[in-house]
Amino acid sequence: MISLNDLPIRDDLRGLTPYGAPQKTVPIALNVNENTHSIPDAVAKDISSAIAKAIHTVNRYPDREFTTLRERLASYLGHGLSRDNVWAANGSNEVLQQILQAFGGPGRSVLGFPPTYSMHSIIASGTGTRWIPAERDAGFEISPETAQRSVREHDPDIVFLCSPNNPTGTGLSLASIEAAYDATGGIVVVDEAYAEFAPTGQPTALTLLPGRERLVVSRTMSKAFAFAGARVGYLAADPAIADAMRLVRLPYHLSALTQAAAIAALEHSREMLAMVDDIKEQRDRLLLELPRLGYHAWPSWSNFVLFGGVEDPHGTFEALLAQGILIRDIGLPGHLRVTAGTERETTAFLEAMARLSPTRTAR
Ligand SMILES: *Cc1c(COP(=O)(O)O)cnc(C)c1O
Repeated sequence: MISLNDLPIRDDLRGLTPYGAPQKTVPIALNVNENTHSIPDAVAKDISSAIAKAIHTVNRYPDREFTTLRERLASYLGHGLSRDNVWAANGSNEVLQQILQAFGGPGRSVLGFPPTYSMHSIIASGTGTRWIPAERDAGFEISPETAQRSVREHDPDIVFLCSPNNPTGTGLSLASIEAAYDATGGIVVVDEAYAEFAPTGQPTALTLLPGRERLVVSRTMSKAFAFAGARVGYLAADPAIADAMRLVRLPYHLSALTQAAAIAALEHSREMLAMVDDIKEQRDRLLLELPRLGYHAWPSWSNFVLFGGVEDPHGTFEALLAQGILIRDIGLPGHLRVTAGTERETTAFLEAMARLSPTRTAR
């Protein structure tokens, strides 16, 4: 047995740790912001028959341009977008990786604002792109001034903004996105993985696309669409951005089965998204109840809540796990993150927290 470091691995990968959210079989998994509702039966049936049909032709390569899927994604997004504006891959993680393959790489840099999605810096290192962490304002916010100042100061090739931000849940104003865009000649990526959970009427970065050919809005079917296991992410941008993706993607990267499943799911977007309102309700319960238990819950526009005031995050994490509830220790001192579950799951979490609560023990 040798270890990884005995191999002639790239110097810049030596000593790094892989993405590692624990995958444990537990009754209540609230750790990776999945949609905790499964796909409605009727929709699942339609998706299965679409996959069953596609299987008959898997002797042939799939449509390399996934034309129908791009069309359906464009009409789901609206905002006057057409299939030429859309690109897709196996999860938005792959979309982000392709963006860095095309616009980042050795000698280039990407700026992000931690605490943010851990995969942003991991994809940077995988593609040999230098990761530049910039500071957020108080309350994890990024004001237009802060966005502009950080981008000007570091002059990166790519800027990653996450809206709403994971793991904090913080929303981001269009003014901050515009400020970052105007401060750079590089690519600005807005990761909108949780856009569907934002407050109703909150404008998306899609509204900023016209006239901004270096702006990329990344989305996923993993969260709101309850499709994490199917691996479908996508972006909307100027058609030239999609052309850049064509230079770096592997041919036929989206399997015929993935395309069939995603197209069938998009035909049912209304039913697929029906759970979003329920999940927002459960998130709002977390935002209301955690402070009553003596914790600080940060405002959240997504399907999870970051809460502080946890004396011993690791101990609390373990105590919950012992009760079959898995949440996330994101390594932020005094904090833990929990995904909004079904009503029953959220209740179980809150009851377990009440038993561990600092206000309880003080009494
Ligand atoms: C969950 C998540 C994604 C989704 O990644 P997929 O590869 O599409 O499953 C992307 N960005 C952020 C910020 C996320 O939290």
